[in-house]
Amino acid sequence: MSARILVVDDVPANLRLLEAKLGAEYYDVITASRGEEALLKAWREKPDIILLDVMMPGMDGFETCRRLKADPETRHIPVVMVTALDQREDRLRGLAEGAEDFLSKPFDDVQLLSRVRSLARMKVVIDELRSREASGRRIGVIDKELLGDDGAGGRILVIDDAQRQSDKIRRALESSHTVMMMSDADESRGGLDLFIVSVTSESFDGLKLIARLHAGEGARRLPILAVVDPDDPGRAVRALELGAHDIIYRPIDPDELAARASSLIRRKRYVDALRQSLDQSLELAVTDQMTGLFNRRYLTSQLEPLVQRAARGGEPVSLLVADIDYFKRINDGFGHDVGDEVIKEFAARLATNFRPMDIACRYGGEEFVVVMPGTRGDYACLVAERLRRHVAGSPFPIRGGIERIDVTVSIGVAVSLTGADSAERLLKRADEALYKAKQTGRNRVMAEAA
Ligand code: GH3
Ligand code: MG
Ligand code: MG
Repeated sequence: MSARILVVDDVPANLRLLEAKLGAEYYDVITASRGEEALLKAWREKPDIILLDVMMPGMDGFETCRRLKADPETRHIPVVMVTALDQREDRLRGLAEGAEDFLSKPFDDVQLLSRVRSLARMKVVIDELRSREASGRRIGVIDKELLGDDGAGGRILVIDDAQRQSDKIRRALESSHTVMMMSDADESRGGLDLFIVSVTSESFDGLKLIARLHAGEGARRLPILAVVDPDDPGRAVRALELGAHDIIYRPIDPDELAARASSLIRRKRYVDALRQSLDQSLELAVTDQMTGLFNRRYLTSQLEPLVQRAARGGEPVSLLVADIDYFKRINDGFGHDVGDEVIKEFAARLATNFRPMDIACRYGGEEFVVVMPGTRGDYACLVAERLRRHVAGSPFPIRGGIERIDVTVSIGVAVSLTGADSAERLLKRADEALYKAKQTGRNRVMAEAA
């Protein structure tokens, strides 16, 4: 995975150093030596990560970060603030300006590359989700909401067998988060936002635990912060390879821990929000708004493969087309709103008559199609007949249930053919059967001519 990294620093030697270190890991490096230039290049080149020096003449790193985060075009690009070693306030301020992470000069190679790799990994996920967010409408809203998120109020599980160190972790975090220890792991069922795992523990193998947490189903999206020994860079690297998202060195600096925890939690929430929005937009794309049934587009996409499989000798697929009888009279006699109520009630009755694997869809207006995979024609006719009776059998409530009207439906049924068939032809045969049902008196089921 080769990410493109924009490095911003006013000192040419620093630029060259980072260019060399990152280039050696096959990252694609762009540089800028001033804040203004960084904004321009961020806009034009759309880097995956920005390493931003805090101390620059003119527009400093904080201001540059603030502007990057204020612009919808660049706001989702992770920013790592680069601070002098003992500038604690700077780190916290960087996060407050919206930066995702921070690094101290002089660079520790493990930290530098781990931060970059972890952010690059996250950026891939974010890009993927953003590109699939069909309309892109909600991205702006999510970005804005999360920009204001300080990563507080997280639920954190600390896995560490060293009493003094875990007490220290708890104290550093408990003012803004709910912190749980291994001993109260059961309470963690309510959902977690972060694991902190000590890989220096003696009673368990922290690396193995990280690998297990990373592979676990529900925990897959949970960030892991590994506590590592500065004298053992090999284990730090291993922790990152096995799935830790970030590392912190012992002895733990409480401010740094708090900042890293908040940053990881904020990142997790951002990805969660994108994912949720994506799920919603996918659902919007396949469902009919009025009835909650599938829409025509979804049906079309699902039907052809089923018909083709059946044509090649797979299980048959049956299909019915149902059209409400004399619906124009309902609209004309009671008004369009009542017409809508009837459509919704019909959809509800339809939905309760089929199996979960059947695809019930509103095909248009007051016309519905149900696809029944693995179903023979005679069985489909029985199901259609049950639906017909379920509709005609009891009047539909209208005007919020104050009144009732009789409704009937006509249904045409067809089944896939082996040899050669297509979704279009199957639909056409069911439609012809429906036409016959209408012609011969309505309120009836007709199968296609054999
Ligand atoms: P038939 O028994 O032959 O099916 O007669 P019909 O009156 O049902 O005839 P047709 O299917 O041609 O009429 C459908 C009508 O449904 C036409 C259209 O105005 C109305 N319609 C389509 N969509 C909606 C909707 O979402 N809400 C309402 N209230 N009416 C709709
Ligand atoms: Mg009709
Ligand atoms: Mg119709």
